[in-house]
Amino acid sequence: MACALCTYETNKLVRIHSVRLGSLKWSLNATILLGICLVMLWNRKYQHFDQVVSSVTAKVKGVALMHLPGQGGVVWDVADYSRPSQDKKSFLVVTNVIVTNKQKQGRCPEPPVSGRLCRHDNDCDTSTWSQHSNGIQTGLCVKFDALTRTCEVTAWCPIETKTRPPRPAVLASAENFTVLIKNNIRFPAFNFIRLGDVVRQAGQNFSQMAVEGGVIGIQIKWDCNLDLLTRRCLPRYSFRRLDENESNKTLYPGFNFRFAKYNMVDGVEERTLYKAFGIRFDILVFGQAGKFSIIQLVVYIGSTLSYYALTTVLMDWLIQTSCYSADVGQNYGEKKVESVEDGKKGVLSVSYVDQDHIRVVKMSLKRRLQDANTVAVETRREDAGHVTMAVSVLQAQVDPRPVLKPDTERQSWCGCGRCTASALPQEELCCRRSEGPCISSSALFERLVLHRPLLEALLLYRDPLSPAPAATSGHSTATLRHCAYQQYVAWRFGVPPAATCPAIPRCCVGRIREEFPSPDGRYSGFTLANATPAITTQD
Ligand code: ZN
Ligand code: ZN
Repeated sequence: MACALCTYETNKLVRIHSVRLGSLKWSLNATILLGICLVMLWNRKYQHFDQVVSSVTAKVKGVALMHLPGQGGVVWDVADYSRPSQDKKSFLVVTNVIVTNKQKQGRCPEPPVSGRLCRHDNDCDTSTWSQHSNGIQTGLCVKFDALTRTCEVTAWCPIETKTRPPRPAVLASAENFTVLIKNNIRFPAFNFIRLGDVVRQAGQNFSQMAVEGGVIGIQIKWDCNLDLLTRRCLPRYSFRRLDENESNKTLYPGFNFRFAKYNMVDGVEERTLYKAFGIRFDILVFGQAGKFSIIQLVVYIGSTLSYYALTTVLMDWLIQTSCYSADVGQNYGEKKVESVEDGKKGVLSVSYVDQDHIRVVKMSLKRRLQDANTVAVETRREDAGHVTMAVSVLQAQVDPRPVLKPDTERQSWCGCGRCTASALPQEELCCRRSEGPCISSSALFERLVLHRPLLEALLLYRDPLSPAPAATSGHSTATLRHCAYQQYVAWRFGVPPAATCPAIPRCCVGRIREEFPSPDGRYSGFTLANATPAITTQD
């Protein structure tokens, strides 16, 4: 008794001897191998990768002369225009300023853009502050200029009035400043870059961006190969603008901040307010370092094995489609696929005189059996007992009987010319595929299938205690007819394929019925009910 633990199932393969298919297979496999090797070398799939951990410092160099209103020409150096931001991985360069000179603590009207317009003191609140205002309202309504009156505030006076930054930017020459970026990973790499080039490579115009400021990302991508033979570790720089550059689309475009310089004048504190517009540069470092790893290589090779299945898929598709010769394709298909039916009714086996194999087909009540699709092809297995019997029978001489010539009209599906039409399509099966003589007209058919003494001897052999034919009126014609069907099947099919019901051609059925007719001339026919695998006879 076979148990699940002590058996092993493996796949059965079909070998096709064909130069065309063989060379196609090897060229497809070679193409796949080439592709896999190229990807492996290009993407360094044989390496183990680690993230690069690095530190970055940046230093800006440059001096610029600018003309500030009320101050004339002023030279700004790195202490003035550049300030380190809290985040170490970014630095800031001031490109434009709005200066408000000599601010003192006091009371003054707010400019109309940030304050509230008024006519009387009643329009102003006391001790309140709004989001846009620069100070705390005193509750008075005072003259701002000849035409407008605004609420008075306690604040640093005079209040900054300009809202639009100067054009062109006062520090536009910052374009020529250089920045030194020091990026350490395992060994340091230095790079000098001009700010104008950075902004240009980010697809921006420096002089336009300098007016309102902005944020530029400096991306440093490391791709290190730490293998001994090709040791190389080079950073690749790329730049892009990170903030919204359409100034009309955002509420606060660009990048700006305020700072002040304080001094004492006659014991009173004064300050100069700067609204600075600048470009902030954020340095983003990412990358990987790869080193040869046998585990990675094995994992990669394992993951590529499935691609070779593409060859099988493609070739099977080629064989099955009409790209290949249709006959050959069907032959391969039948050899490749072995159908096993679940003991179902209606699976028939068909044997043609002019073909060596036995075809397995599915019975259809709509389609003529002669035209049914072949599900599988089986080799004919001889029934040894029947062969022995047949040989001994054939050694005895029997007078040949004249073969009756039927006067039926020839059916379109019939190749032997002796088949009659049937109301049941599953009965319309010829003894041959091509045109030629009918098996029922052969002398062997007479002697093996229709010879009454042989059939009676067989019936007696199977049931020795049945009454001797001589003593009674003999076996009934129905018994003899069924025995003749069995003789035909044993002769033509040998041992029929498992789980199939052998189908007897129309010409042979007609000939047997002619010899052993039913008394009332009625036969039940070949139906699903009697086409079960176990029963090999028909009425
Ligand atoms: Zn026929
Ligand atoms: Zn025939």
